[in-house]
Amino acid sequence: MPPARSRPSTIDMGFMFPTPTKQPGVDYMIPDVSYLVKNKHKIRGHFLTHAHEDHMGGIPFILPQLPAPIYTARFSAGMVEKKLVEYHLQTQPQLRVMDPDKHEKVQLGAFTVELLRVTHTIPDACAVVIKTPVGTIINTGDWRDDPTPVDGKLMDNQRMAELGKEGVLLLMSDSTSCEFVGRQASESDIAPSFDDLFNRAQGRIILASFSSQINRIQMVVDATARHGRKIAFVGRSMLANVELAVKMGYIKMPAGLVTRVQDAVNLPDNQVVIMCTGSQGEENSALTRMGTGDHQNIKIKPGDSVIMSSSIIPGNERSGVGSIDALLREGGKVYHHVFRELDHVGPLHVGGHAKRDEILDLVRLVQPKYFIPIHGEFHMMVRNAEAAVEAGVPQNNVFVMDNGDVLELAQNGALRDRLAMAGDGVFMVIATVSRKTGKLVSSPDIISRGFIYMKENEELINRARAEVRKAFERRGTGEPIDWAKFKLKLRDEIGDLLYSKTKRSPMILPVINEI
Ligand SMILES: [Zn+2]
Ligand SMILES: [Zn+2]
Repeated sequence: MPPARSRPSTIDMGFMFPTPTKQPGVDYMIPDVSYLVKNKHKIRGHFLTHAHEDHMGGIPFILPQLPAPIYTARFSAGMVEKKLVEYHLQTQPQLRVMDPDKHEKVQLGAFTVELLRVTHTIPDACAVVIKTPVGTIINTGDWRDDPTPVDGKLMDNQRMAELGKEGVLLLMSDSTSCEFVGRQASESDIAPSFDDLFNRAQGRIILASFSSQINRIQMVVDATARHGRKIAFVGRSMLANVELAVKMGYIKMPAGLVTRVQDAVNLPDNQVVIMCTGSQGEENSALTRMGTGDHQNIKIKPGDSVIMSSSIIPGNERSGVGSIDALLREGGKVYHHVFRELDHVGPLHVGGHAKRDEILDLVRLVQPKYFIPIHGEFHMMVRNAEAAVEAGVPQNNVFVMDNGDVLELAQNGALRDRLAMAGDGVFMVIATVSRKTGKLVSSPDIISRGFIYMKENEELINRARAEVRKAFERRGTGEPIDWAKFKLKLRDEIGDLLYSKTKRSPMILPVINEI
């Protein structure tokens, strides 16, 4: 039935953090959307499962090329709005909030779409359910099934079962943690560990976690109140997210509990909790700077208890553990989830992705005709496919797909097609300029994806960079800045340069960040 193909909508617009060995010199990678740009007149809407960067970080770059309303749950909408303000996007996005608890539906062309609540590590994470003329498709987004979530908002397994009974054509499910047997523990299991360590602490408590982990921040807030301390939030993203979550009602903050970090230093040590990011030892994070003495207000000292409420994300092993050394050298006591057994502490972190038993349960509940593992490395997706087969999906109906692969679904079967969507790739120019003068404050960044290898084409990249600098110099000062016009001109000039050297026309995306 052709209508299923004629009214596309998209799910999520993330970016990926590159592997330093595979993509040297690249800060982050955005998906190749050239196929969608060619078909943009057909796009009726974008759906966002949740507000993590790998699901919505690409919006400022992609949305202007694919203008259409964004449909998402309430907290995610708040986060998108905040992000777009940070990026000074010229196009005003249309945000449409959907309530998953009311099973609200939206009709776009031949599709009816609804959001279905799942549990994850950020509020309001949802699966996307798409009813198409050939059958129902479910994309889980990132999920696990937490039986006792901190905010009390359970995964909507009832709706999942209902859809399963009606018949689901295709289930696409998160593969991240499918190689681990059993189930994820509940996020609320962490609260007793916090209480335990708050009881042990004689001096200040410095707690590092993720700034989007709103429920965990709530548990720290509650422990702070129970133990008669005050809390200071440190770090730009931590402050911004807490402010938003409190304003939107996702964090319940007792009156008088929060103090500014400048004031926290004047309180007795045993009344202070500092909550910050940097649990991965990120170079510029507040926690790392507190260890090295580079932080404006806080320097780690003997008597401090540092609680690292995170796992170490693969790839961060060296920085993640290395940052502990600096904290120890200054005399702090460090508790880390990974080494908690040495300190006889309960869990200080819980993952946000379904383990194998949770996946088996979901597939049995939904009983999809077809299954595609998504979100994960290839080895994870292979294991996720195995789980689906174990849960009853016929082997021939499970498709492990690579980026760019296309699966065409019809009422009478599925057809897999290895279609290259890459075209001529993407070439991104990121310029950071002073809001006051409109002048460049640093050398422009170039990100190339699917066009050329940056390492082998250093000369061309440098030429492009020089071209950008020249464009800024030519612009002259004093005149009012029309960035939209400037970007168009820049796009043409860089496009001409790249074409003259390579005979290819990648999509050129100029991004201007004003600071
Ligand atoms: Zn994700
Ligand atoms: Zn996520």
